[in-house]
Amino acid sequence: MNEKAKITWQNILGYVKERINPQSFTTWFSSSQGVELKDDVLLVEFPNNFFIDWIEEHYYNILEEAVNSLNGNKLRLAFKAQRQQADRPLRKKKRFIIAQDSSKLQERFSFENFVVGKNNEFAHAAALAVAEAPGQAYNPLFLYGGVGLGKTHLMQAIGNFVRHQYQNLNVYYTQAENIMTELIEAIQKNQQMAFKKKYRTKDILLIDDIQFLYGKERLQEEIFHTFNYLYIQGKQIVITSDRPPKEIPTLEERLTSRFQGGLVVDLQPPDLETRIAILQKKAEQDNVRIPNNVAYYIASRVKSNIRELEGCLTRLLAMASLSGQEISEQLAEEVLKELLGYSGRITKDMILNGVIDEFGFSENELKGKKRTQKLALARQTSMYLIRTLMNLSFAEIGQFFGGKDHTTVIHAIEKIENLKKTDLEYRQKLERIINRING
Ligand code: ADP
Ligand code: MG
Repeated sequence: MNEKAKITWQNILGYVKERINPQSFTTWFSSSQGVELKDDVLLVEFPNNFFIDWIEEHYYNILEEAVNSLNGNKLRLAFKAQRQQADRPLRKKKRFIIAQDSSKLQERFSFENFVVGKNNEFAHAAALAVAEAPGQAYNPLFLYGGVGLGKTHLMQAIGNFVRHQYQNLNVYYTQAENIMTELIEAIQKNQQMAFKKKYRTKDILLIDDIQFLYGKERLQEEIFHTFNYLYIQGKQIVITSDRPPKEIPTLEERLTSRFQGGLVVDLQPPDLETRIAILQKKAEQDNVRIPNNVAYYIASRVKSNIRELEGCLTRLLAMASLSGQEISEQLAEEVLKELLGYSGRITKDMILNGVIDEFGFSENELKGKKRTQKLALARQTSMYLIRTLMNLSFAEIGQFFGGKDHTTVIHAIEKIENLKKTDLEYRQKLERIINRING
């Protein structure tokens, strides 16, 4: 063990510790150690590869910051797993975090690793067409969609594909924010020519998160001319954003219309089937199998963000491997609770309380026999919610409401289904209750 390595890592951790939540810090960093410092490379050991994946995915930026603030940017970090699992061969022996390297294409963002579903099939097809014939199919290609839905993945898949297929083409990926910073710096140092040269020599320019393009006319004008130049030369431009071009308030009109002149496609949240497929695919990449019921458990609760979905899986695998427990629904429940702050498990009491808050009856009244119109509606609403949120049988639900017949429950649910369709005010009520149940 190298004393200097230990201390250097401790210093880096000191920086990180102040900036992330204590529980995450303990979970992910307390078992790490600096083991060797040689030629400006600090080798850090983690219990296993799940840790390394997680750290790279979630703490890359903060570590980079820590390194820069403490050691300038000379130091590089290398990660190594202490234990190697028999069921999961190491993909690489060491992994390097190299300071200032956030604009690189990541290998794992490939078309092979991208699961296609109804939500993204059009975006996927467009991206593939662009990758196969850059500058010819759709130009510019504009991909938009919510957080964690695969925009960066698809964009980088184009880059990776082109790099392998056409080695003579100059592919460049960057974030819109970086371009702005570069441009401002270029202007300050009077080096606009260098900026122009850098961007105008690309064959494929991939610009991520264009909604962060900000700034005065002069900056956007420069960007516009760059895009125009590339476009006229038949070079491919791909843009991503969290919303369609005309909804980006900071974007100048002519940039907006330039973007709209190509193909604009959106990525929607994946449906349940696709979410399960994504989990299975990711597990497969890690050489582990997750039981179907566990995949279902997670996928039915984490709905709108694939990054979160992956995060749950990574954490689940880490917990299973650290504790030697089987990958089970129970373990998945713990993970969801920890990461998302809820277990995803809704109880009948939670539902009743939600209804009571909205309608103002007591539990006994809900379960009792009295049938004023308003009380009946509150009761039927409870039945409906228990059925849809918990999937209990009609008989079980009837039982819970003081031994009512299953046909009563069926009738209640049909009534609510209809009401939902016809009565806006009721629908809003229902939404409020559901929000309350979900905390
Ligand atoms: P965005 O840029 O839209 O915020 P990312 O492209 O960074 O989202 O995707 C978030 C995570 O989800 C990434 O790890 C990515 O690999 C994964 N991901 C997104 N969509 C898919 C998909 N269709 N198949 C497999 N993985 C996906
Ligand atoms: Mg992104």
